[in-house]
Amino acid sequence: MPVEPLNLFFCDQYHFPLPDGHKFPLTKYRLLREKLSSDERFRIQPAELATREDVLRVHDPTFVDGFLEGTLPPAAMRRIGFPGSPELVKRILASVGSTLCAARSAIRTGFGGTLAGGTHHAYRNEGSGFCVFNDLAIAISTLRAEADLKKASIIDLDVHQGDGTASIFSDDPDVFTLSLHGERNFPLRKQVSTLDIPLPDGTSDGEYLEALRPALTKAFDFGPEVVFFQAGVDALATDSLGRLGLSPEGMAARDELVIGEVRRRNIPLVITLGGGYSNPIELTVAAHSRTFLTAADVYSPCASI
Ligand SMILES: [Zn+2]
Repeated sequence: MPVEPLNLFFCDQYHFPLPDGHKFPLTKYRLLREKLSSDERFRIQPAELATREDVLRVHDPTFVDGFLEGTLPPAAMRRIGFPGSPELVKRILASVGSTLCAARSAIRTGFGGTLAGGTHHAYRNEGSGFCVFNDLAIAISTLRAEADLKKASIIDLDVHQGDGTASIFSDDPDVFTLSLHGERNFPLRKQVSTLDIPLPDGTSDGEYLEALRPALTKAFDFGPEVVFFQAGVDALATDSLGRLGLSPEGMAARDELVIGEVRRRNIPLVITLGGGYSNPIELTVAAHSRTFLTAADVYSPCASI
């Protein structure tokens, strides 16, 4: 029986300039797309740009227009961490658009992935930590406007707390925000998610998975109609910003647990990237790629036979 390929979306065709030595791993997006491109279990497509109206479903108009027009104050751009440019504006809209495409695919087919996004440090009225607009929040707001859908769970396993997401949904009883993160890591001032699991420096595979299992159960018992998995891979021991101690095998076990449980419960799933700052960058790319390969194994186990 033929199995439909999984829809993945990308935005790395929109380049933006960064100074030499900048710690944002810009090349990982292209490397990841290239690594997955030969696997027939994926249909990899360019993202459509998000519109100003999409972004305004979540963000403050003064902030949105300031960013789009390049007139944000220097302090606001420093907080984001990227130098402003017209190319950056296009890339950010494509990154949000990629998550929107993935979210629509999830509602249509049960699964959608973006090879970007997971920009969870973005607040309603400001960006932070390489995040300008919050794609997770924009996608949930858009699905609510377009589809008959109310409840969503966000499983944020980036090593940094999903502070922007927690803040945006703090008064929304229909969104469950779960964040497993390094307690001593950025951001210094944490927000209150529905469920926060702060982890000590050096947390091992076993300790991590032990903390994740009961937290996941709570995120599913909430009864979401869609699940967003922010699959940052900066909890790897090799990550230069991570402080935790996961092995590539532990990271793969994390992905199998999350994706397997979502599939078992038959809930539409959106997977986004998140952070990943391992040195060399190939370690980050391999871990991100493993997330999507796990999804392919779970959703189309017979396709490669
Ligand atoms: Zn991170």
